[in-house]
Amino acid sequence: DLLINQIAAGEVVERPASVLKEVLENAVDAGARAIEVQLEQGGVRRIRVTDDGCGIGRDDLALALERHATSKIASLDDLEHVGTMGFRGEALAAIAAVARTTITSRADGEAHAWRIDGSDRALAPAALGQGTVVDVADLYYNTPARRKFLKSEGTEYAHCDEMFRRVALARPDIGMQLSHNGRVAHRLPPAAPFARIGALMGDDFLQHAREVAADAGILRLAGFASLPAYSRAGRDAQYFFVNGRFVRDKLLAHAVREAYADILHGSRHPAYVLFLELDPAGVDVNVHPAKIEVRFRESRAVHQFVFHALRRVLAESGA
Ligand code: ADP
Ligand code: MG
Repeated sequence: DLLINQIAAGEVVERPASVLKEVLENAVDAGARAIEVQLEQGGVRRIRVTDDGCGIGRDDLALALERHATSKIASLDDLEHVGTMGFRGEALAAIAAVARTTITSRADGEAHAWRIDGSDRALAPAALGQGTVVDVADLYYNTPARRKFLKSEGTEYAHCDEMFRRVALARPDIGMQLSHNGRVAHRLPPAAPFARIGALMGDDFLQHAREVAADAGILRLAGFASLPAYSRAGRDAQYFFVNGRFVRDKLLAHAVREAYADILHGSRHPAYVLFLELDPAGVDVNVHPAKIEVRFRESRAVHQFVFHALRRVLAESGA
């Protein structure tokens, strides 16, 4: 079973940032209002995520570490209607197979918290207010072949920071904090989308961006897109969310590129934070569990909609 989980981990747990993604998504799914992330040494030494969500009851702690048919989807049909972020039911099992993992949690109505040790599944009473602490230490301590592929502390941290930003942009209503080696990197109180985007992208971005708000009934696009005068834009300032999930999608990227084709030249890239909403049945998010691609049923219509929505905003601003 450990071997199966270690193999599964190869799919899910590529690097510290992929651990962070799974654990953050679980915290969001648990209805957390505040999430704190503490990283050490780029997340390789430690990733600890504390949330104030619904918690895990004593009897469910061991189950959380098993590969399971996740409670988050009731039937195959649900795959088309995935509302929650995680849906594979194997992330924690995979993580616990390749890192020293403990989960401390206190569910609603429990007198105290419980802690489970991922290595031997031992349960012990613990102290914690409502919520969950997932502690993932020494990634790949038992699989040195994998450890060799980890990059420098700075690079792994940058990937973690990026993962944190994606969740923070998608959920401005959740208070979020990130620290690295004891130093706070982001402290984000719950905020309106506009304020959260400013906090993460910089006020400079907002000053050189236009609001996008297009509604075609079944397709809606909201967010901000930079004007040509915004000069600090790089590929790393491009955020596209589909139904609240960060994606990197060729079709969407192409629609954006086309909208900017006549106004941005050379090697310059637009910066944007865009949220596309559509009927979940119209988009397949299950292309690959650890990937961030999607497939649209009506891909031409989506492309046209995004292109024209951006075109209109950029034209109105005289760009
Ligand atoms: P999945 O999220 O796909 O169900 P995971 O392996 O990521 O699978 O998590 C296993 C289960 O553990 C979840 O279904 C959930 O019930 C529980 N769980 C994990 N993290 C948390 C958390 N932070 N708060 C509450 N429950 C959690
Ligand atoms: Mg999950």
